[in-house]
Amino acid sequence: MKRYFALGAFLFFCFAFPSHGEGFDVARHKMVEEVLADANTTSSYSGVSALSPNVIVAMKKVERHRFVPDALAPAAYLNRPLPIGYGQTISQPFIVALMTDLMQVKAGDRILEIGTGSGYQAAILAEIAGSVYSIEIIEPLGKEAGERLISLGYRNVQTRVGDGYYGWPEAAPFDAIIVTAAASHVPPPLLKQLKIGGRIVIPLGTQFMTQYLMVVEKQPDGSVTTRQILPVRFVPLTGGH
Ligand code: SAM
Repeated sequence: MKRYFALGAFLFFCFAFPSHGEGFDVARHKMVEEVLADANTTSSYSGVSALSPNVIVAMKKVERHRFVPDALAPAAYLNRPLPIGYGQTISQPFIVALMTDLMQVKAGDRILEIGTGSGYQAAILAEIAGSVYSIEIIEPLGKEAGERLISLGYRNVQTRVGDGYYGWPEAAPFDAIIVTAAASHVPPPLLKQLKIGGRIVIPLGTQFMTQYLMVVEKQPDGSVTTRQILPVRFVPLTGGH
């Protein structure tokens, strides 16, 4: 009986989760369908009813299974966050797509990302923008993501290990900034490094209280407007600030 159960579980795993090229392609397209459905369901409060075509194209193209640990590759196209080591996660595909959409990235834009993690969000941005600068505070994660992005051919992404709270002043100003870890406030150095008319997409709140995804826009007079999008759950922005 036990043997049949083990065989059944093995067969279920083989058919339910892809483990090779074509299976991954099918699973990725299904994942994008789920992302579009989530965008539709949340549209009344996110304000995003339809994701931009350039975001959809990028989500269909970037192979998420290349950004997760090998053992989790069969689960890479579930619309869920997954562990990437060091207590960190690769974000849920719907949230990656929504944040990218909210940034309103255009071809040629210069983008800053705080929290490289696996490099997946940076790759999505690199498919649309002109250049992406990404900072990760955990050295092994940052180095691994940098090497991964190079090996996948992303020549328009630069990565650095450090505290992203302070941004990347030498590469500023940026058209848009994304923070992929929850902060208690918008870091003032990031506001300073944002172009007039630019946007910061950032989860605000603490690890144990409700966090909200926010869009912060820099106005012509230097003031900012903020818009609350939806409740989210992110790992905390760490560092010495
Ligand atoms: N964008 C990532 C991806 O596509 O895989 C997911 C990011 S994960 C949700 C958040 C990341 O932010 C973690 O890797 C974490 O180490 C990093 N992080 C936290 N605080 C940071 C800081 N002050 N500066 C830079 N990175 C930070």
